[in-house]
Amino acid sequence: MDTTQPLPLRKRAHKRRRRRKHHLGPLIILFFVPIVLVSAVVIAALVLWSTTPVTSHPILPGSSEPQIHNALALLTDPNVAEDSNAVRIYLTFDDGPSATSTLAILDILAQYRVPATFFVVGYLAEQLPDIVQLTDQSGHVIANHSYSHDYEAVYASAEAFMQDLEYNEQVLSGILGHTPPRILRFPAGSAASQLDNDPALREAIKAMLAQGGWRYFDWNASMGDSISGWEPQLNELGDALVASIDEQVASGVTDIVVLAHDTDAKPWTPLDLPGVIEHCRQRGYVFKPLTLTSPAIEYR
Ligand SMILES: [Zn+2]
Repeated sequence: MDTTQPLPLRKRAHKRRRRRKHHLGPLIILFFVPIVLVSAVVIAALVLWSTTPVTSHPILPGSSEPQIHNALALLTDPNVAEDSNAVRIYLTFDDGPSATSTLAILDILAQYRVPATFFVVGYLAEQLPDIVQLTDQSGHVIANHSYSHDYEAVYASAEAFMQDLEYNEQVLSGILGHTPPRILRFPAGSAASQLDNDPALREAIKAMLAQGGWRYFDWNASMGDSISGWEPQLNELGDALVASIDEQVASGVTDIVVLAHDTDAKPWTPLDLPGVIEHCRQRGYVFKPLTLTSPAIEYR
């Protein structure tokens, strides 16, 4: 307020401001309240997470796990049993970041204190760097899912694939302020039709990946959220997923990498996530992020 003005002038200015404010009120509520609410929820979740005592964490002195750069990353599933025989579930989210889905998923993961892995697409990360930073600072693993996610371009040659991958690594490093681990998921997986049609290309790419110290991960369970033409009922996808997880566990599988997506085109993924997490917890399964030393889940 300008206190150098005479009092009547100040009053009139105040009234004008009040009128303007009144006029803008509904607009402000419409546009800013949801944003403030979402931000408050995310910040509250982060504060809660960062202040909750940690019962165990994977980075112990002398551990062979790679060093993770920040303190929040030390947080892990609080239900991790000392018993290392527990079935391990690795939730992975592809094709993000997205403006709504990634935030909704982060919120749920924070609520349940579940660490996960996000296979990030570079050109989308450039559009939403804050969400990539938030994902990283929330203790999740940021991994590489190519810069362009353009099958034609990335599978044009082994050199083209590596160039795109390394460019994405640079983009992500710039956003995060540190280099993410050399963990990738092939666009469409290592059994992508472009690679199945050209096994020599796949072998050339795999040789270059090995030389660069990269690890790639496919999946052995799926949220089944890449659907079109129909809308699932609430928990329909989640129930199918946990049934497939239980079936594999019954047959002796101990490490399950779950494919899901954090894109706005797949709004049912965050809706079904709590049911999946609760079911797995009830069964005593534990949630882990992927690291360079995680067991191989590779199709080809
Ligand atoms: Zn993808």
